[in-house]
Amino acid sequence: MLRIGLTGGIGSGKSTVAKLLVERGAVLIDADRIAREVVAPGTPGLAAVVDAFGDGVLTADGALDRPALAALVFADPQARARLDALVHPLVRARSAELLAEVPDGAVVVNDVPLLVETGQAASYDLVLVVEADTETRVARLVGRGLTEDDARARIGAQATDEQRRAVADVVLDNTGTPEELAAQVDRFWVERVEPARG
Ligand code: ADP
Repeated sequence: MLRIGLTGGIGSGKSTVAKLLVERGAVLIDADRIAREVVAPGTPGLAAVVDAFGDGVLTADGALDRPALAALVFADPQARARLDALVHPLVRARSAELLAEVPDGAVVVNDVPLLVETGQAASYDLVLVVEADTETRVARLVGRGLTEDDARARIGAQATDEQRRAVADVVLDNTGTPEELAAQVDRFWVERVEPARG
């Protein structure tokens, strides 16, 4: 098995690269998706979060109210640490379960937005970083429905390009067209993935 850790700032094009890698045969493990699944309605994860933070973090229909929870932990590092201590083990356990189901010899891509921030680079055979300059990312995020202020705040709260580059084995430049990105993914596959699979 070859494990690729895929990361990049919000709006850089991680999901797009993940999709291209899946088209070439990789198996995707999506950290954001797992983080949502472990606190979905009816899960022990959601019950634990409500236990710790109260009914105020639920929407009227009993789902996790993410903006309410985010507001709670934003200004309170201890609350953030308590939340992480609840959710991270569940995410790790679910990721391990999914990994155990992957066939021998597979190329596994973990899409991990906060790979650098959470110090996980050493967990992967290859760390693949997607980059695009801030203005391009803001424009793409606004295209995806965020306000410009929100887009800039989220970008500002993440690691810098320099921090991500410091742990990258390969950097893809996604300031160009989708076709240019696909060509770089093809090159990555031929030059780094296929040789590493043996
Ligand atoms: P991330 O997963 O890193 O947040 P996405 O892959 O979702 O980023 O890309 C952010 C947005 O930009 C999406 O709407 C996506 O379709 C678009 N996008 C990605 N790459 C390009 C590109 N090269 N040219 C134009 N739009 C792009």
